[in-house]
Amino acid sequence: MNAPVSIDILKQHLIDPEICIRCNTCEETCPIDAITHDENNYVVKADTCNGCMACVPPCPTGAIDNWRTLLRADAYGVDEQLTWDVLPTQGAVPVATLATENAGASDIIEPGPQTDTVRGSTVPPWSAAKPHVNLYTHKAPTTATVVGNYRLTDAATDSAIHHIVLDFGATPFPVLEGQSIGILPPGASADGRAHHARQYSIASPRDGERPGYNNVSLTVKRVVQDHDGNATAGVCSNYLCDLKKGDVVNVIGPFGGTFLMPNHPNSHLLMICTGTGSAPMRAMTEYRRRRRLKGATGKLMLFFGARTKEELPYFGPLTNLPKDFIDTNLAFSRTPKQPKRYVQDAMRERAPDVAQLLKDDNTHIYVCGLKGMEDGVLQALKEIAEGQGLDWDALWQRLRKEGRLHLETY
Ligand SMILES: Cc1cc2nc3c(=O)[nH]c(=O)nc-3n(C[C@H](O)[C@H](O)[C@H](O)COP(=O)(O)OP(=O)(O)OC[C@H]3O[C@@H](n4cnc5c(N)ncnc54)[C@H](O)[C@@H]3O)c2cc1C
Ligand code: SF4
Ligand code: SF4
Repeated sequence: MNAPVSIDILKQHLIDPEICIRCNTCEETCPIDAITHDENNYVVKADTCNGCMACVPPCPTGAIDNWRTLLRADAYGVDEQLTWDVLPTQGAVPVATLATENAGASDIIEPGPQTDTVRGSTVPPWSAAKPHVNLYTHKAPTTATVVGNYRLTDAATDSAIHHIVLDFGATPFPVLEGQSIGILPPGASADGRAHHARQYSIASPRDGERPGYNNVSLTVKRVVQDHDGNATAGVCSNYLCDLKKGDVVNVIGPFGGTFLMPNHPNSHLLMICTGTGSAPMRAMTEYRRRRRLKGATGKLMLFFGARTKEELPYFGPLTNLPKDFIDTNLAFSRTPKQPKRYVQDAMRERAPDVAQLLKDDNTHIYVCGLKGMEDGVLQALKEIAEGQGLDWDALWQRLRKEGRLHLETY
């Protein structure tokens, strides 16, 4: 009798280039550097990925959750994936794999070590409304008309942040606070490929920038320098900030199924943001303001940082909100003749009140803004919790598990 033939089968992890919005979340999440990218695509290295699934829940579009069963010898290489415009279809599968066709990735790929690299929740709050995602894609975008575009930051500052209102007319575009949309800027990059979409948080509540209208607002910072401080003109942010009333833009999305607000009226929102990270906080705050329910005990506490008062978007409207509605704490890091003050400093100054919220199971925490803020904010939360005798590590795990700690930094 012949010995059984051993076939080396791979359930290869792939990213759908038609849906991916190149947001880099998966690359940052992967604990073993199995994801890489160029200016065209994000791809997974077949010889490195162990199928741990850590990257799947944080992906805002679901583009990451694609798998093809094939002979390991036929695995798609990185160079080949980087050229793709569409995913290959599932080819004929060797007979020996048929028994495992319905198996999960981990049944075929050796499972890697348990990872704990996702610092925030990968599930929404229990009372969040159900979001719609990916209604419009790169292949089938929709359009919106610009009905407003004005600068939020003082004209004398270097930081130009715009409030842009997009109207969808009769096209369905249902959104929730905390979700984002993708904008497809016109034109092509140096290699002739159409520009990929950029992601922007929605700054308006679910019932519209103007209540009852089918519109959304965005908070967009004009990028004029790269991360190293060299002069550059960001493709999409400059396109958006230059738009005029009546212009039509190509939109994809909505995206995001976890950074969502709780709907139960007694829930507390602890919101920590910098710059354009204020967009989702504005959406949530405005939703709560419009639906202020008599007798509800839910509190809103906001920590908001910018370099100066003049660079803080929505400064005027924010400071006009009633004190019994929202507890607002501003921190400015470059006010002349004043010591530098960051959101973490403001949080520490309010440690007893922050700790009170941390002790409450109805508290949901949202952090949004520049990537660099994440470590400092988590460190401040840890210090505040421990200063009040709370076990931060246990609390952190619980917050994540219960969809109560949401981090979105970029
Ligand atoms: C989940 C998520 C939500 C986002 N929400 C918002 C939002 O609400 N408002 C908003 O303005 N942006 C937001 N962004 C960032 C946005 O998607 C774009 O990355 C940003 O507008 C720059 O795009 P660009 O086409 O203008 O620049 P590009 O042409 O893509 O980049 C030009 C150069 O600038 C660098 N660069 C890119 N972004 C920045 C930046 N912010 N600061 C300094 N240098 C930069 C790039 O590395 C590159 O070198 C979000 C990103 C993510 C992932
Ligand atoms: S959309 Fe998903 S697959 Fe694409 S870069 Fe973002 S996290 Fe990765
Ligand atoms: S499944 Fe795990 S190892 Fe593979 S790309 Fe995603 S995070 Fe990395």
